[in-house]
Formats: sequence, structure tokens, C-alpha cells
Amino acid sequence: MAKLLIIGCGGVASVAVHKCCQNSEVFTDIMIASRTVSKCDALKAKLESTTKTNITTAQIDADDVNALTELIKSYAPDAVLNVALPYQDLTIMDACLAAGVDYIDTANYEAENTDDPKWREIYEARCKEKGFTAYFDYSWQWAYKEKFEKAGLTALLGTGFDPGVTSVFSAYALKHYFDEIHTIDILDCNGGDHGYPFATNFNPEINLREVSANGSYWENGKWIETKPMEIKRVYNFPQVGEKDMYLLHHEEIESLAKNIPGVKRIRFFMTFGNSYLTHMKCLENVGMLSTSPIEFEGKQIVPIQFLKALLPDPASLGPRTVGKTNIGCIFTGVKDGKEKTIYIYNVCDHQECYKEVESQAVSYTTGVPAMIGSMLVVNGQWKKPGVFNVEEFDPDPYMEALNKWGLPWVVDENPQTVE
Ligand code: NDP
Repeated sequence: MAKLLIIGCGGVASVAVHKCCQNSEVFTDIMIASRTVSKCDALKAKLESTTKTNITTAQIDADDVNALTELIKSYAPDAVLNVALPYQDLTIMDACLAAGVDYIDTANYEAENTDDPKWREIYEARCKEKGFTAYFDYSWQWAYKEKFEKAGLTALLGTGFDPGVTSVFSAYALKHYFDEIHTIDILDCNGGDHGYPFATNFNPEINLREVSANGSYWENGKWIETKPMEIKRVYNFPQVGEKDMYLLHHEEIESLAKNIPGVKRIRFFMTFGNSYLTHMKCLENVGMLSTSPIEFEGKQIVPIQFLKALLPDPASLGPRTVGKTNIGCIFTGVKDGKEKTIYIYNVCDHQECYKEVESQAVSYTTGVPAMIGSMLVVNGQWKKPGVFNVEEFDPDPYMEALNKWGLPWVVDENPQTVE
């Protein structure tokens, strides 16, 4: 019985829209609004005969707070789901505040122009204070806490898979398996093969910026930064097999360090094959990953955006990707005075996802939790004034919804650990 305004119409949005349409008892009306309205119209045309959900579309530049506020006011949704890019987080939060509507997203704020001197000043101070150099962090969005509290509105941050499901796994482990969690290792394995020598599974600009940056982990109350790909481990993933994985900085480390009391160490690992890493290193060495504009034949171009235009569209990988993802968390800690270790994970099959919603598993594992987070906000189970990360709410209804909506999970009480 709710109306949801969904901003963005890329890989993740497409899955979230499919899932809202499957869940038409909750989502009676949705609006898909994005920069390129033809993509929204095409998705609507594909789905409207298959669902009871009423779908409308609109063109919007979500960087324009006034235009977005007008759109939100005229559609009057119960909440706005932001599945555009992290660059739009703050403008969409501003518009939600102006229009008096709840806000939900899947990735924390990142500045599009990292050469902006005003932004750099704040960024450099944060690097010194916190000890990690990633371009994204939660400070920008956590700063909206009071504004959302005063307005009586909810902002739910990071309801994708990682962050999102991995954070809910952490809250669930703490609630049902531990008195205190001491370490969390988040393992993100994509065992899928799309057959291209090089492609990214989601937005190339966001993906390559994340992967080519320094790694970092949180230990004993502080950040420890590593060189990109400096720490490598090999792990035998259930239903996927043995893979090389590398330690990366990842945004949920920051919120889990704040929200899981007593935690001593949090690390994040992602699997990469040799072909991906060799291509990425080469592109980086020649300057193709740069976000700073250069002059080319009288025009300003941003190298990484040009590269994006050359690479396969992540949305086109669906039909050709085979294999499985396995994403989850290994927790160690104590329960009733005894040490214990558990591993909670989900395995998702690329081809099964494609059969169901015509997307590969990376978009699927993000779009399903985006729908679930939105459902819990609009049905009131996860609604309270302020700005929250997902691990701050009761994990049980979310865990139940994961099983129901396509991302079943497993608890292994005797897992292989990571050195
Ligand atoms: P895509 O690039 O496929 O889609 C982004 C969409 O946003 C496009 O439709 C794009 O429009 C639209 N958009 C971009 N800028 C604007 C703007 N100014 N106004 C309106 N619409 C805009 O990205 P993905 O679907 O792969 O990713 C979506 C989000 O999900 C990202 O924030 C990403 O970081 C996050 N994510 C989170 C994960 C998690 O587990 N938590 C995992 C993977 C992704 P156009 O079609 O015109 O380009």
C-alpha cells in the first residue's frame, strides 16, 4: 500500500524495480525517474503487463535539488529510493528534506569532482584525522542526522549487499550468536565469468575508483592503510571454489566499527582474477583511470568517463555471465564465555538471476536488498527519525525477507577462517 519514487535506471535500479513489481502488495505505485527517461520508459513497457504495481516515469537531473523537490512533491511518494550514483546522495537527501519524504540508498556519498578545492580541504583534514584516504566516507551523510530527526524523517543508508546485507548479517550474528563480536571478515566473491578479457560488473567509474585506491582495515580503534592490492589471501568459497582475494577499503567498515560494540578488527576482501588486475594496472599506468579532465582535440574529457564509454555496459553482461557469487561475513567472538566462529553467506547464481529479472548477480544482489530496505521503511518496521545504517535496526525482518525475495542465506558454524 505504498508509493515509492526510484531515482536512477541502471543495473541496480532495474532489479529493484522488478522486485517492487513482484511485491505489488506493498508497492502499489512506483515512479522510475532518471536522467535518461527512455530507459525508464523501456523498463515500464517491459514490466507493466506483468504486475499490479502502477508504474509511472519521469525525466530528472538529481543534481538539481529544486527540480527534484518539485518532482517529489508532485508525485507525493512515501519514500525515495536513490539508486542513481553516490554523487547524487546529498542532493537527493536535500530534496527529501525539502519535500518531507523518507530517503533510502545503497552507497555512501562520493564527490564527483575531487579537484574541487573546497571539497579537497575537508577531505584532506579527514584523511589526517581518520587515517584512510578513500574518496568516500559517511561523515557527509551522518551530518544530516539532526535535520532528519527534526523533520521526523528516516534516512536509511546503504541497503545494498555490501554495504547492506553484510551489515544486517553483523547485527543478526550479534543478536543471535554472540555476546561480543571481536572480528569481522567480509568476503565478496564473484565467481562469474562474462567471457570478456575486461569488464566491470557495475558502474565502471565507481568500481575502478574503489578497486585502484589504497586498501585499509580497522583494528583496535584505528584505521590501518595498505597499498592497493597489498594484502592477498586465498579462500575456498562454498559452491564457488578456491579464489584469490584482496583486502580493500570498504564503506561498511566505518559504520560497523561505530555500531558493533567491542569489535576489535574489521576487514573486507574481494576476489579478482589475474586478467582483471593486469588490465586495471595497465589502464591506471597510462592514466585512463584519472578523474581529472584533460584537453583532447579542443574538448575537455575525463579519462575514466571515456573508458566507461569503451567498456561493455554492465547491464549487457547478464546473458553471458555464468557462475556464482558468494558474499558473506566470518565472525569470531564469545558466547557464554566460550570462543566461537560463524560464517553467514549467500550464494547467488548469475544465470538464475538472468532468468528471473534479466540481470547478472551483482546487480541482483544489490537490487533485492534495495527493495527490502525500502519495504521495511514504508511499512513502518524500520522507520524512526534520523539517519541510520542498516545494522542499527532489528535484523530479523530483513533476514526473513532475504529468504523470501531471492537471497537465501546459510549459517556455517565451523568455517575456514582467514589468516
Ligand atoms: P549504473 O551506472 O548502471 O546506473 C546509474 C543510473 O543513475 C543511470 O540510470 C544514470 O542515468 C542515473 N543517473 C546518474 N546521474 C544521474 C543524475 N544526475 N540524475 C538522475 N539520474 C542519474 O549504476 P549501478 O546501477 O551499477 O549502481 C547504482 C548504485 O548502486 C550506485 O550508487 C552504486 O554505487 C550502488 N551499488 C551498491 C552496491 C552495494 O552492494 N551496496 C553494489 C553495486 C552498486 P543514465 O542512464 O542517464 O546514465
